[in-house]
Amino acid sequence: MARFTNMNHLRFLLFTVHHIEELFTYSRFAHLDKEQAWMIIESAELFAEQELFPFFKEMDETPAKYDGKGGVTTHPQLKKIIQFAAEQHWIGGSASFENGGLQLPEMIFNTGHHLFQAANNGVQGYLGLSSGAAGLITSFGSNEQIATYVPKIFSGEWQGTMALTEPQAGSSLTNIITTAYPTNKGYYSIKGQKIFISGGQHDACNNFVHLTLARIEGAPAGIKGISLFIIPKFRPDAEGNLIYNDVYCAGDFQKMGQRGYSTTHLSFGDNNDCHGFLLGEQHKGLGYMFQMMNGARISVGQCAASVAMAAYQASVQYAMERPQGRLPNEKDPTNPPILIIHHADVQRMLLTQKAIVEGALSLAMECNRLYDLTHASENEERDTCFLLLEILTPIVKTYSSEQGTRSAALAIQILGGYGFTTDFPVQQHYRDLKIMSLYEGTTGIQSVDLLGRKVIMNNGKALRLLGQTIQDTCEKASVNPILLPYALTLTTEWKRLENVLWHLSKYLLNGDTARTWPMQAYLWKWPDIS
Ligand SMILES: Cc1cc2nc3c(=O)[nH]c(=O)nc-3n(C[C@H](O)[C@H](O)[C@H](O)COP(=O)(O)OP(=O)(O)OC[C@H]3O[C@@H](n4cnc5c(N)ncnc54)[C@H](O)[C@@H]3O)c2cc1C
Repeated sequence: MARFTNMNHLRFLLFTVHHIEELFTYSRFAHLDKEQAWMIIESAELFAEQELFPFFKEMDETPAKYDGKGGVTTHPQLKKIIQFAAEQHWIGGSASFENGGLQLPEMIFNTGHHLFQAANNGVQGYLGLSSGAAGLITSFGSNEQIATYVPKIFSGEWQGTMALTEPQAGSSLTNIITTAYPTNKGYYSIKGQKIFISGGQHDACNNFVHLTLARIEGAPAGIKGISLFIIPKFRPDAEGNLIYNDVYCAGDFQKMGQRGYSTTHLSFGDNNDCHGFLLGEQHKGLGYMFQMMNGARISVGQCAASVAMAAYQASVQYAMERPQGRLPNEKDPTNPPILIIHHADVQRMLLTQKAIVEGALSLAMECNRLYDLTHASENEERDTCFLLLEILTPIVKTYSSEQGTRSAALAIQILGGYGFTTDFPVQQHYRDLKIMSLYEGTTGIQSVDLLGRKVIMNNGKALRLLGQTIQDTCEKASVNPILLPYALTLTTEWKRLENVLWHLSKYLLNGDTARTWPMQAYLWKWPDIS
């Protein structure tokens, strides 16, 4: 039984709450059933337990490190993990059959990845980036591009990355200046710098496929002038030989968390010999990139929930083993101390963690379900799922990362002084979690996305659908006397939120977003459930 998550709870979420079996009635997923789904997830549990979890601490203590020669040294176990994950289809498993995958629903694939995230979250990042990069090439690439890159990424030999950020362009990708100079030889010549590139040129893979945003020389200013390029570290020539493509790794950032996960500075075209291959059409790059970014935002939200779940499991276990103090009404000092789980304040902290991690994980699973339905269903059903997924994406990313960090802080608190030491894992969970409210768009940027785009999209249809879903759920819950008070509270809170949002929408529609900032602060400061 995994020590870093709760398999019974995963079963409950998959089969009782989110009804995965309903997916198998759609032709895209008709080759699967409940038993197979669970067997696949159990195989992920075994892999996480045997190959990832034992190296969680070690990878923190021996972080990815720049070798001074253009590469990054990682823990030797990483190579083994990537190869094993590839063989077990944990990189390409959700791709369709014709693209070399198993056509697994994200509900299964990402539940497997939840186990990896909870066991050793930095390692999962390498696998997730490769899956996302291959998906992007499959969606927008030519047949030749797909044939050249996707099988190599799925095999784990080549690592996929997303290269967006530049020193002067973090949240605001409008400001990127990496330039693609047209040639008449079927490629663009690339020059520029990218920083903070996760999974960049490390020693566990032998080639890297950087999906890179750049501006074609002379392109219009702003996001409409951004294009997307495939830039491999080694480019294949006509005979299939690999030639160095002038992508130099200039350094690896040392970090407070996710220390086993490389975070590189890449320099393209120092010797004027970096070939970039346009993906899709020119000037549409940011729109394409959003496919990978949206997937990554859900994945980061899920990862935050998973790491917080691992911290919760560690604190429950500790609370059930640590004797300390007596109950307030126990006056006899000769009686032995009780286990700390019996103290009301410890229970308050554990229950707060439990509510956050189980809620956040369920929200991530709902996003996975909606994603699957946007690919399996048609017409109105597909449109509804798409809109719900759009509005939930910034929410799952931000709720899970902000509250997950709070939840991991409570785990440290429960362990007392020991929680602060490196003898116990919860301080590492806390450090690892912090990045999740920053990368893939900070909390501030998710707020801009939610209020500036998602709330007003399709004249507020996504928001109305979400409100209707919450209302329907509350109505169903109201027939149960235990759930009734919660349903009433949620109904009241939702109405309050809706009123404020409609009030603000007139500013949003005029582009006056500065007036909405107090609301954005409110959105992420959910009422304290304790
Ligand atoms: C460990 C790590 C891994 C990463 N991996 C990758 C990767 O693989 N690929 C990649 O391309 N990038 C990656 N990044 C970059 C990451 O996405 C950026 O750091 C992030 O988007 C924020 O950009 P910035 O650091 O430049 O901060 P800034 O954009 O300078 O933001 C600073 C502060 O200002 C706020 N702010 C900025 N603009 C606005 C606005 N318009 N409205 C309101 N508030 C605003 C932000 O919310 C933040 O609080 C990674 C970063 C780290 C640290």
